[in-house]
Amino acid sequence: MFSGKLHQAMNDQVHHEFESAYIYLSMAAYFDAANFPGFAHWMKIQYQEEVAHTFKFYDFINERGGQVKLQPIGQPPVEFNSPLHVFEAALAHEKKITADIHALYELALEEKDYPSQSFLQWFIDEQVEEEQNAGDVVANLKMVGDNPYAILMLDRELGQRQPPVEDNAE
Ligand code: MG
Repeated sequence: MFSGKLHQAMNDQVHHEFESAYIYLSMAAYFDAANFPGFAHWMKIQYQEEVAHTFKFYDFINERGGQVKLQPIGQPPVEFNSPLHVFEAALAHEKKITADIHALYELALEEKDYPSQSFLQWFIDEQVEEEQNAGDVVANLKMVGDNPYAILMLDRELGQRQPPVEDNAE
């Protein structure tokens, strides 16, 4: 069983991860409405990843003898100006999640909770990838600018994104 403070912080992270899923689903809905099926597909894969992250925290809380307590989820952003605007918002969001994970890790260090430190390592590495994935798309969209043909090519390319492979490390 971990400390009350860590239990609360892990519960908060269940909320943050599921809220992320909801935000990416909203971004997918924007892209589907705007006729960018590839960008929408990319966001739906991202949604799946966030649901998987949610369950990693959910399972860990249970393994440590805690109880998951779900919190209300607010209205996600629904209107955007452009694909670049959406991916910039996704990158900013991932940076916020990285800060959350780092704060959780600092708390696990303070509380000398070694299993939590070990558990959080995966997320520290994962956040490096998450920021890189969103950052790469932002860089590509900045490069192509307003060229409609290039934006459509990028939409097709992102439509090839594969669903996450579940690692069986646990
Ligand atoms: Mg996540």
